[in-house]
Amino acid sequence: MPTLHKFAVLVIGAALLFGLLLPPEAREGERTTVVQPAAQGTEAVPAAAPGGPTASAKPGGKPSAAPSTPPPPPQPASAQAAQAKANELGQVPVIMYHRILAKGGSEIDRTPDELRAELKRLAEANYVPVTAAEFVQGRIDIPAGAHPVVLTFDDGNPTQFTLDAAGSPAPDTAVAILMETQAKYPSFRPVATFFVNKDPFQLGEESNAGVTWLVQHGFEIANHTYTHPNLAGMPGSKVESEIAKAEDVVKKTSGSPSVTFAYPFGNAPRTKDKDNEFVLKGDTWQFQGVFLAGWNPSVSVFSKEFDRSRISRIRSEGKVKKDGCDKFCSTAWLEWLDKNPDKRYTSDGDPSAVTAPSGSISQLASEFADRARVY
Ligand SMILES: [Zn+2]
Repeated sequence: MPTLHKFAVLVIGAALLFGLLLPPEAREGERTTVVQPAAQGTEAVPAAAPGGPTASAKPGGKPSAAPSTPPPPPQPASAQAAQAKANELGQVPVIMYHRILAKGGSEIDRTPDELRAELKRLAEANYVPVTAAEFVQGRIDIPAGAHPVVLTFDDGNPTQFTLDAAGSPAPDTAVAILMETQAKYPSFRPVATFFVNKDPFQLGEESNAGVTWLVQHGFEIANHTYTHPNLAGMPGSKVESEIAKAEDVVKKTSGSPSVTFAYPFGNAPRTKDKDNEFVLKGDTWQFQGVFLAGWNPSVSVFSKEFDRSRISRIRSEGKVKKDGCDKFCSTAWLEWLDKNPDKRYTSDGDPSAVTAPSGSISQLASEFADRARVY
């Protein structure tokens, strides 16, 4: 590890130890304040790539059992996978959105035209959306050469989803814009994950019908706590109650339990009595992925570095100076991934295989060894 990176890890470790975390923004400024300051001290965006601070921090991580037999050697990749330069151990952008407002929004909101432009840009760069659940379950079924992107919308706001009188997504909502994008780019799947609180999309009594519409169209509804509190420092029992009550809402409206969860404000509880693993599984829920706010693409779900208790997201924002978005928000990261294609997840087109170049297959998590393909 270069010295500068070691230094960054030390700084972050110290910040975690001493609680030197910036307070959450007054409003909906969801972020992990852990990564950005140290990452900005490094020379460039790539410093925060997988293997960096986010990926290596595993509080409460349990040691995995050693396999009793050595993993099988990887099989040769298909010609199609090699030709596509498949790399299913590459990074995946998980983009975080809040409200979609024509005007009057804050820095975490986007306008309909900004969302339209970002989705167009993703479609033209051969990204195909998968839901957060599909991502954490490794169900990334997209064509060879395509790149997965996870689109997440927090807080269940009506600007993300409302049905009009005719029963169609209202114009300029996130769902309508996703559908528009697919009409222009047929390979672009119009799917996303909505992390909701006690009243999804402020639908009130219509919430069952609205959420059912979303689920039937391939969207994911998932838990974001009941009242959207800052969980940092909250006693474990209160955190559990917030998650359990929101889980009741998700099950009642969608008919299924949440597969994923996102922290309000990106803040993990950091309770003294429990490690954060307790968020993954409770009496009435079991999440397969817990999302931060954050400032980096996620490592691949197939990588040894993947930590399902703290998955990074990127805020959707242009290359503005504020909050370091010129380096760490979606426009900057998507440019970086375009310029560093070997670092990006590229599909082999076969959801049953996990393909990577021979030089990086050692990063594969052992549980996927029997699916490994190399070229
Ligand atoms: Zn939120």
